[in-house]
Amino acid sequence: MDLSPRRRRILDRIVPSVVPSVSGTAAFRKIDARWAPNAGYTTCGGLPAYVAGMLGLTAEGAATRINTGGGLAGMRNAGIATGSWVHNGAGERRRAIMAGGQPARLKPGDFYLLCSGSAERHETGCNCIAPVKPEEANKYKGATIEHVGIIVSAAGNLWRTADAGQGNQQVQLALYIWRQFNPATQQIAGESDRFGKPMRRLCGWIDVDRFPFLT
Ligand SMILES: [Zn+2]
Repeated sequence: MDLSPRRRRILDRIVPSVVPSVSGTAAFRKIDARWAPNAGYTTCGGLPAYVAGMLGLTAEGAATRINTGGGLAGMRNAGIATGSWVHNGAGERRRAIMAGGQPARLKPGDFYLLCSGSAERHETGCNCIAPVKPEEANKYKGATIEHVGIIVSAAGNLWRTADAGQGNQQVQLALYIWRQFNPATQQIAGESDRFGKPMRRLCGWIDVDRFPFLT
């Protein structure tokens, strides 16, 4: 696959500078400088935020705060606000096929997001900007974003991703991971919990070629 120079830069230079890494090291601190054992949150959002910061941001891109490691719904908001969000909805996939094409597919370098919650919330709510103010949170009807990471390969049904937020509450890791994708359910092997690795819905992704990065 021919990849844009931006995608090559993400995959060949930026991600390998911090993946793999373990909390407590200089490399991991570039992903998340604040995390400490038992901090009560995982660090997955820090990796796409770091990549965004290394690519640099236009004024439009900076206004989304995509490089600040804010909330996971904030990352989706940044994609929607800039026209770079690709919602993985049943309606979008159906329309693409009816138009004689194929549903949109992630490319290496894209920022992917997984969500949980009802299909109805995902289909209708995950393509809308979510309120970021806590007092407006009840207006938000989308599904819950569970994880964000970087696509290394999404060919076939065995995908390769780069993800922070691995490990546990004592040690956080950033790793390359193989993930199984199920095209029938649009779910991929998600994040570990104490029951193993549940399947999570592919909510959508930020098309990095369309996001207003500087380079
Ligand atoms: Zn969703």
